[in-house]
Amino acid sequence: MTAPKPRIFSGIQPSGELHIGNYLGAVKQWVALQDQYECFFCIVDLHAITQPFEPAEMPMQIFDMALTLVAAGLDPERCTIFVQSNVPEHSELAWVFNTVTPLGELERMTQYKDKAARQESVLAGLLNYPVLQAADILLYHAVAVPVGEDQVQHVELTREIARKWNSRFGEYFPEPQAIVGKVRRVLGLDGQAKMSKSIGNTIGVLETADEIWEKIRVALTDPARKRRSDPGNPNVCNIFSLHRHFSSEDDVAWAEQGCRSAGIGCIECKRRLAENIVEALRPIRERALALKEQPDYVVEVLRSGAERAHSVAAQTMTEVRRRMGLRRGAELAEAEAE
Ligand code: ADP
Repeated sequence: MTAPKPRIFSGIQPSGELHIGNYLGAVKQWVALQDQYECFFCIVDLHAITQPFEPAEMPMQIFDMALTLVAAGLDPERCTIFVQSNVPEHSELAWVFNTVTPLGELERMTQYKDKAARQESVLAGLLNYPVLQAADILLYHAVAVPVGEDQVQHVELTREIARKWNSRFGEYFPEPQAIVGKVRRVLGLDGQAKMSKSIGNTIGVLETADEIWEKIRVALTDPARKRRSDPGNPNVCNIFSLHRHFSSEDDVAWAEQGCRSAGIGCIECKRRLAENIVEALRPIRERALALKEQPDYVVEVLRSGAERAHSVAAQTMTEVRRRMGLRRGAELAEAEAE
């Protein structure tokens, strides 16, 4: 008999389109890891509602995210794709973990501090976001979590939460490791912050060639390069870093030399980048267009995914409740008789 594959878990918020930061930082790795691991990939709607959102748009956003993930290469035959709120054990375990998580740890999370700084009134859900994330991961006993660099701190906290719970209620949860791929962090088109759905500085993987060009055309470059004749510094130019992600070695060398010697202008450099991005994303876009014709298939992927995830999550919660003395109905009488 072959040994079962180790499990991984990762999630993505349905708060907007899948962008190239999500794709390069996380989803591309997920696609590559499907054979090596037993994979659970979750559309984390309960995380998305910690930011302002429109209830009427949520179902479509979830559907679109599922469709895009499949178009990007997740294969429902080889991995489990599901929606977080369809498996209520996520919320239940999150509450349990709230009772072993030090407040100070949550307050020092970088992502919390960044997001809180952008909001007038900070809600408890934003602070407790990493606790729900720990529940997401540990419900499945995942040993690894493939994420972008921005999530590494949350995975470290997940390890701490696992340790704290285990030390109180007995060894049960593994301490998962973050798997961060080659592309750790993609900057947004503003060239300032990480590319993020909640900031709106993104390029979506399904955008058309025209949409992509309109965004790249006005994106920030080396601010010191004011005129076409000024030599630029590719190391401080976000357009150049995107070339590194999407262009051939020859095109990267062309952009680097052309920029340093003022041999090419920013617009020329951007045009080539936009063409290369469109080309790289073409297969995803084409698969997505085909999937839009089969909405029932996408719905079925999520239905069967939730069923599979629920069967694992329910077992975990039964054991968690047992160890914590949280019994139900007949179990109470059994405990009394013991
Ligand atoms: P967003 O920040 O756009 O809302 P999510 O929080 O849904 O994205 O993150 C989904 C995955 O994409 C996570 O693994 C995260 O680390 C990764 N990710 C998000 N933004 C970036 C980025 N700019 N660069 C690299 N990885 C990213």
